[in-house]
Amino acid sequence: MASPGISRRGLLKGAGAGLAVGALPLPASSTPDFDPPAGAVAVSSANGLGTVAHAVKRMSEDRLRPVSAAVEGVGIVEADPNDLSVGLGGLPDEDGKVTLDAACMDGPTHNAGSVGAIQDILHPARVAELVMDRTDHVNLVADGARRFALEHGFKPTELLTERARRIWLKWRAKRTNDDRLWPLGDREPVDPALQGEARPWGTIHCSALAQDGSLGCCTTTSGLAFKIPGRIGDSPLIGCGLYCDNGVGSAGATGRGEAAILSGGSWLVVERMRAGDTPEEACLHALRRVGKQARKGANWQPILWAGVRPSFGLTFYAVRKDGLYGSASMLGKPGSKKFAVADGAGARLEACAIAFPS
Ligand code: ASP
Repeated sequence: MASPGISRRGLLKGAGAGLAVGALPLPASSTPDFDPPAGAVAVSSANGLGTVAHAVKRMSEDRLRPVSAAVEGVGIVEADPNDLSVGLGGLPDEDGKVTLDAACMDGPTHNAGSVGAIQDILHPARVAELVMDRTDHVNLVADGARRFALEHGFKPTELLTERARRIWLKWRAKRTNDDRLWPLGDREPVDPALQGEARPWGTIHCSALAQDGSLGCCTTTSGLAFKIPGRIGDSPLIGCGLYCDNGVGSAGATGRGEAAILSGGSWLVVERMRAGDTPEEACLHALRRVGKQARKGANWQPILWAGVRPSFGLTFYAVRKDGLYGSASMLGKPGSKKFAVADGAGARLEACAIAFPS
């Protein structure tokens, strides 16, 4: 059966290619015609309740384009010193420097911008938007990205808070080796704020759909805590930490960035929606693919796989062009992982599907 929201015309197009829409895989070029959405929708990681509410309000009331609504929305978390995974207050690299990654993508123009390993800039997602709008490039990194931001009027800002500095000091004091070969090692977490993880990831992704069916998205992060200086994750990489196609939908990732990079995860989620998956099915498909890849990787890095499941967290978020949305996370008990969504019914947290439930 076709997923809700795919029109009869879309079905016929699929059938014309010799396949029903529900029978995967469709040829990659076959895009169903989706019904128009009932209104604006935004999804994000669970730390983005204010983000999705803001994005939907700006799209609905001010007709702001979805990518800008997402960039503005994640700006709330970038400026929050209590979020240890994004912007101000983010945990630093192994040298104690906060380096940020961010990217955004605009559905209607199929354009994108990103900054990687940028320092001292409070709103890297806004810089990524300027890279998209004001240059012919997609990626700027490190000092070049910082200089570009300063040229556009951003003021240098100290992003290392006292709380993050103390956590970093504790990590540094407990470090017993170069801490590079086994980034998922089972050392004790250095701070209760890290919720049991020795070396946490953390990020915000927001995918936004406007009432006219246009799409945009944004991902912004301080990346893996205590990372090797110069490491960038999936967040600034188009197709990995975020991707949108204005004819299909938008998706993004949080969690172990290396896994989203090695799978082209967000691109895969969008392509699965093109082939007829619901957003939740598409996210689950991508996570199972990542699981298979981790099983192979376990040959050289055994800690990627723990018994019957991957040993790391990864979550995908997706919204389809007709307004259907969903999310799935790699690990956990059913109902234990949440994502944020806002639409005409307001902002709320909903449960992610789980790819490898415990
Ligand atoms: N994906 C981000 C990274 O690998 C971090 C995270 O989402 O937790 O840099």
